[in-house]
Amino acid sequence: MISSTAIAHLKEKLGDANVLHEKEDLLTLGYDSTPGVHHLPEVVVYPTTTEEVIAAMEIAEREGLPLTPRGSGTGLSGGSVPVKGGMVLCLTRMNRILEIDEENLTATAEAGVITLDLFNAVAAKGLFYPPDPGSQKISTLGGNVAENAGGLRGLKYGVTRDYVMALKGVLADRSLIATGGKSVKDVAGYGFKDLLVGSEGTLGIVTEITVKLIPPPQDKRTILAYFNDVRTAGEAVSRIIAAKIIPSTMEIMDRAVINCVEDYVKIGLPRQMAALLLIEVDGHPAPVAEEAAGVQKILEQVKAAEIHVARDAEHAASLAAARRTALSALARMSPTTLLEDATVPRSRLAETFSEIERLTEKYRLKVGTFGHAGDGNLHPTVLCDERDHEEMERAHAFYNELYEQVLAWGGTVSGEHGIGLAKKEYLARQIGPGGVQVMKRIKQVFDPQGILNPGKIFDEGDPCTQVHVEEGFRVSH
Ligand SMILES: Cc1cc2nc3c(=O)[nH]c(=O)nc-3n(C[C@H](O)[C@H](O)[C@H](O)COP(=O)(O)OP(=O)(O)OC[C@H]3O[C@@H](n4cnc5c(N)ncnc54)[C@H](O)[C@@H]3O)c2cc1C
Repeated sequence: MISSTAIAHLKEKLGDANVLHEKEDLLTLGYDSTPGVHHLPEVVVYPTTTEEVIAAMEIAEREGLPLTPRGSGTGLSGGSVPVKGGMVLCLTRMNRILEIDEENLTATAEAGVITLDLFNAVAAKGLFYPPDPGSQKISTLGGNVAENAGGLRGLKYGVTRDYVMALKGVLADRSLIATGGKSVKDVAGYGFKDLLVGSEGTLGIVTEITVKLIPPPQDKRTILAYFNDVRTAGEAVSRIIAAKIIPSTMEIMDRAVINCVEDYVKIGLPRQMAALLLIEVDGHPAPVAEEAAGVQKILEQVKAAEIHVARDAEHAASLAAARRTALSALARMSPTTLLEDATVPRSRLAETFSEIERLTEKYRLKVGTFGHAGDGNLHPTVLCDERDHEEMERAHAFYNELYEQVLAWGGTVSGEHGIGLAKKEYLARQIGPGGVQVMKRIKQVFDPQGILNPGKIFDEGDPCTQVHVEEGFRVSH
């Protein structure tokens, strides 16, 4: 238990308003957006500068407290849940955009800046920051970096990692790290920046991020297609990619999700349809027109039930906004919403939908599936009740069997939500004990005492007792 002296020291260094330690204040900070995982921290601090991060870490060390970095807590794998108690370091008050450099096309911001705020700030200067997780109105850039977040535009524009040029942060021993810069090329030694991206708060606290910006697309077309069969929608995605058309967005919702979203936003989605695809092509006007025509032709060839082109930008934005509500809309339907992040090579999409349907029936579950179809990244979501143990067992069996097939197809257990607490077992299955050993050894170099976000990505244990690394283990990136 944290001492009253330590609380007093924290308040002295960070200010009273930036230190929470009463149980009622801590309650909501023991969760992220992952169902079924919760643990109370002993104290939550909101540093406003890097010096305050270091001061808080020093006090945590004196008290023997583990540290869990936190952004907005929208994570979907339990990453910011402080499973070992201790101190939560919440970066949301380090929220200044420090620079938009129009000569180098970069922006530099503190880790707590909200993703959409950065997007809007650079858009006001005629620039474009593409990564747009569905949570962009709330998620922080630090959380995006730590999870290597994807988003609706990932298909054409890539994920957070593709835009991170430089990072500043604090390592477990409180030393400062600055890695990367504004040079577009930099191969000087190991890529620490890339190691920190996606490290889920286990290797260092990210305090400042410099991202690459690009010119915005000049034109955009939005197409909405409905299908009588979800496999046909999957086939349409594979065919569009095979035709060498790369839309910026190709999102899917199945019937269950269409109905939940329609209940929620009431924009007239047809409830009887088995699936919809929301497709956006963007870029210079001439290729956009050509690509939109190509997409429409393929949709006709696969016999989509209906094909609509958005009337105008406002209509297009309302369709994208409806898609972004999918998770919230599903979450209203049952006490527990278990959401997974299965990702397959795109040519396997139609088969993945068949497999989800087969398993839904086999395990007698309610499942709604949506996701970034163009990335092969699906979120099959089981609507259940965690108080019903038998139903939860069936839900876990469903995911177990699904992941077995996904891995057999060369897919991955997480396309964008990270491993955190929720997918540790699946990660070990994907990369094998050899892969986990290498990750543990990297963790040991950065954080020998294991104080940063303990219990995440893999179970603890002495990483150096087993130095043998199996030949041929697979790491996905
Ligand atoms: C409705 C909804 C839609 C979503 N859509 C998407 C989507 O389309 N694509 C996608 O990829 N994800 C999506 N997510 C998941 C989530 O929003 C992302 O993972 C996001 O990047 C988390 O940001 P956060 O600020 O909430 O981080 P948190 O949830 O607070 O933390 C996430 C992880 O990052 C670590 N962390 C946070 N800040 C730092 C820091 N400064 N330094 C070091 N480590 C840190 C934490 O320890 C934790 O492990 C969605 C979530 C919701 C609820």
